[in-house]
Amino acid sequence: MTERELVMIPGPTNVDPKVLRSLARPTLAHTSGTFATIFKETLVDLGKIFKTGGVVLPLAGTGTLGAEVAFSNITEPGDNVLVISGGYFGDRLAEIAVNLGARVDKLEVPWGSAPSIAEVEKKLSSTKYKIMAAVHVDTSTAVANPAKELGALARAKDVLFLLDTVCSMGGMDVRVDEWGINVCFTGSQKALAVPPGMTVVSFDSKAQKVREQRKTAPASYYGDLKRWLPILNDPTKYFATPPVNMMYALYEGCRMVLAEGLEERFSRHERMASAFRAGLRAIGLRLLCNDNVASNTLTVAYYPDGVRDAEFRKSMLDGFGIVVAGELGPLREKAFRVGHMGNVNRSDILATLGAIEGSLSMGGYKFQLGAGIAAAIAVLTR
Ligand code: PLP
Repeated sequence: MTERELVMIPGPTNVDPKVLRSLARPTLAHTSGTFATIFKETLVDLGKIFKTGGVVLPLAGTGTLGAEVAFSNITEPGDNVLVISGGYFGDRLAEIAVNLGARVDKLEVPWGSAPSIAEVEKKLSSTKYKIMAAVHVDTSTAVANPAKELGALARAKDVLFLLDTVCSMGGMDVRVDEWGINVCFTGSQKALAVPPGMTVVSFDSKAQKVREQRKTAPASYYGDLKRWLPILNDPTKYFATPPVNMMYALYEGCRMVLAEGLEERFSRHERMASAFRAGLRAIGLRLLCNDNVASNTLTVAYYPDGVRDAEFRKSMLDGFGIVVAGELGPLREKAFRVGHMGNVNRSDILATLGAIEGSLSMGGYKFQLGAGIAAAIAVLTR
């Protein structure tokens, strides 16, 4: 088995060797002064990436745990929760809230579309909701939801705003404090370009107060913000053992994000996404969402007639060494997903487009070979 694969799925993404090497550093005592310093510095860097002065809580676990921890601190059984869902991960937010005993309404948006703010406003006016939850970029559709506008609405309606930024944080602008995101969570393995295994949840002062004043204990013992606060203030204290080596990787990953510069990183993502979409369109592929709602972290394209999902992805991998993802839910086998986030560069984009052209051509699709690459190069060299 070759280890030389280009991972172009929407997470995990390609991890820089510097971050990988950090995992091999000797495992320090989790309560040691040296580790506490690394932990504290990581919190500072995460605060900069999240653009928040609130609390950021890194935990061993994946994005799904992040969603549970986010909800479980601020949700009590019987609470009214509105979940805006236009995809697989929106649906999952609703399932998690139901699991915690909340009374959940789902505002469903067709896959590939973003919610209309007027519609959300109407829904928020219909019931006294405690929480409104949404996904920034739903990885099943590549739609970037209007997080800023949703935050403004939540603020105006005095509803807590919980946002899943698993597929955007570190690759697209997320302004937790400015946009009024009371609870925000992400995962390590996407645009932050760290291996899978960590989630980070932020709580602003309003959310912290809600946790503080709740009547029932949160369903999650491990994810209880109140138990972690003393550790965030002084990581030499113990509550549960942090994943020491994964914290090295998160530390290194955050350093790399900030060394590039957030704005530079976002514009690199924007450039890669535009080039990739231009390339796919130039060979006649239809994309799931329009550019005005398209995220910069991944793209979803429909297969042309006659091209089979399993064969296409096998050709991408066996023939070109590139991994792309299939679709979920109603789009299963109808479309494929390509992640272009984290450390993605021009070569990755061009190699992936080349492999897509090759695989589609071998799958019997007729188009002008090279047109996708030419269109992408035109964008990348502008
Ligand atoms: N939310 C979004 C938008 C995701 O893309 C994912 C995973 O792909 C998750 C949540 C769940 O994260 P994890 O798979 O790390 O548990």
